[in-house]
Amino acid sequence: MATIAFIGLGNMGGPMARNLVKAGDTVRGFDPAKPTIDGVTMAGSAADAAAGADVVVSMLPAGAHVRGVYAQTIPAVRKGALLIDCSTIDVDSARAVAAAAADSGLEMVDAPVSGGTVGAENATLTFMVGGTEAAFARAQPVLAKMGKTIVHAGGPGNGQAAKICNNMILGISMIAVAEGFGLAAKLGLDAQKLFDISSKSSGQCWSMTSYCPVPGPVPASPANRDYKPGFAADMMLKDLKLAQAAAQGVGAPTPLGAAAENLYALMSAQGKGGMDFSGIIKVLQGK
Ligand code: NAD
Repeated sequence: MATIAFIGLGNMGGPMARNLVKAGDTVRGFDPAKPTIDGVTMAGSAADAAAGADVVVSMLPAGAHVRGVYAQTIPAVRKGALLIDCSTIDVDSARAVAAAAADSGLEMVDAPVSGGTVGAENATLTFMVGGTEAAFARAQPVLAKMGKTIVHAGGPGNGQAAKICNNMILGISMIAVAEGFGLAAKLGLDAQKLFDISSKSSGQCWSMTSYCPVPGPVPASPANRDYKPGFAADMMLKDLKLAQAAAQGVGAPTPLGAAAENLYALMSAQGKGGMDFSGIIKVLQGK
């Protein structure tokens, strides 16, 4: 069993750290918010938590936090320690921190997740991992204690690339489905009828069949509980901004990604950023 430093113990990091404790690891945590997590010993700084640890895992809000935390922890960790950042951040920050780790002779992976807080609690997260084959092989058993599906996406930063591409597709497809149901209502077509037809036709996609933005057709979708998240619109907006920044950086045309970012920014400006992202249908309906 390993000694693991866990940096950033919020909505995701907290339950992920608990699953490492459950698996028998010794976990030392650091978070300025000072949460109490059963079985996790809290340290006074990220560097203190990381000193002597076999593995450092981080789950932080954004790229600036990840750069700041690893600037302190890379000099503090022991030789041979493995670094795993699970935050969703920009590809450039992920690659810069991985390069700094490599310069110090340390292996690092970016391993952003999909599956939300429920996946974090139930250890059923999907990890998209960027890093060398050797780093991936070392990270795999650690990630397996917190998730179910672990995919090697390629070299450093490719985990983040996979995450933002996937979420850009999701953000766009949710708007498409919401527009379809909005148009159906105006044309006098029942939502359940559209679902029955479209979910078996060429318009079907995850936003429709698993996360339908109107109440009724998919009982587990947030639309049935007044759009309580789930996956908050502000989190979708964060990922769409990352996708747009990355697209601009490499000159990739993503006009629908840009439109999706604008619509979620509008949703947020309307004070609906805490709603599930499928609540975008309310914005389109002017409600
Ligand atoms: P959160 O705000 O609940 O947790 C982040 C934690 O980091 C906070 O407790 C904060 O105090 C701590 N923190 C900030 N600066 C720190 C520092 N310098 N050192 C140590 N700790 C610090 O956010 P979350 O929902 O747990 O999300 C974390 C990451 O996971 C984000 O990048 C997010 O995009 C990603 N993510 C979240 C979800 C989700 O459903 N919540 C799903 C997939 C990915």
